[in-house]
Amino acid sequence: MSVMAAVGDVFRRARGRTLTAFRQGDEYQWKGPFYFIQGADPQFGLIKAWAVGNTGSGDDEWGEEIKLTEQAVQAINKLNPKPKFFVLCGDLIHGMPGTQWRKDQEQDLKNVLKNTDQDIPLVFVSGNHDIGNTPTRETIDNYCKSWGDDYFSFWVGGVFFLVLNSQLYFDSSKCPELKQAQDAWLNGQLAAAEKRKCKHIIVFQHIPLFLRKPDEDHDYFNLEKSVRQEIMEKFQNAGVKAVFSGHYHRNAGGWYRGLEMVVSSAIGCQLGEDKHGLRVVLVTDEKIVHRYYSLDELSSQGLEKEMVDMLAKQN
Ligand SMILES: [Zn+2]
Repeated sequence: MSVMAAVGDVFRRARGRTLTAFRQGDEYQWKGPFYFIQGADPQFGLIKAWAVGNTGSGDDEWGEEIKLTEQAVQAINKLNPKPKFFVLCGDLIHGMPGTQWRKDQEQDLKNVLKNTDQDIPLVFVSGNHDIGNTPTRETIDNYCKSWGDDYFSFWVGGVFFLVLNSQLYFDSSKCPELKQAQDAWLNGQLAAAEKRKCKHIIVFQHIPLFLRKPDEDHDYFNLEKSVRQEIMEKFQNAGVKAVFSGHYHRNAGGWYRGLEMVVSSAIGCQLGEDKHGLRVVLVTDEKIVHRYYSLDELSSQGLEKEMVDMLAKQN
């Protein structure tokens, strides 16, 4: 195998609608608390585009995002114990399909991410900038060639994880058959999860269902109300505990009955008062505990003692 192919595989571990990084048969059993890292929106190019007030074609530089993502990777590599995986919840780059800088942004992001500790699998979630606000079969195919399947599921230590393509909920007008396929697959996955007793079900998708309240008005940063309601009920009925998203470039979140919606700010460009950061998500027997760390905090201090103690328990 060539070096290029070997490097490429690190980015396309989601194949056949599962994550090949884990031997799935070994992962059905609960083995005690563990944690993973959630990041969102490195979005190479947005900081410059935002600064010049041209989000359409002002994304011709991304040096800051390179530095921030390098800091994120270095902070993750230093963590002890190691996280089970590092999930990036979409908007990997800023350049929309068909725009000028996209290829270079993608290559530079891969050059940074390939330095992630080999024992920490990368998990990718597609965002609107990755496949377009109105995705097509072609934009989705191109994404899959680069980053692996756009939706898939995997087990880690008795916990069932679902990665969804939220653009199919946002606007599937150019590929309705792909939305139908994801819906049918999702129903099958939730039914199968019910049969195989899992400790928790956790979902990753780029666009949040809602930002603070399940009945809030629809805008650019959440899903349309009737679509949202249908998904929330489906998740609630299936026992999904939490949905982790990005897209908002600010921290937010709320509850729909027993379902927690967690919105994490960006590794890259901030649109609010939060700092560039990552979320640490700890999964225990009873619950899912999470905290957003700034990159500076995580790289200088690592996990807080309380989290390390929770991980040590029961192991
Ligand atoms: Zn987005």
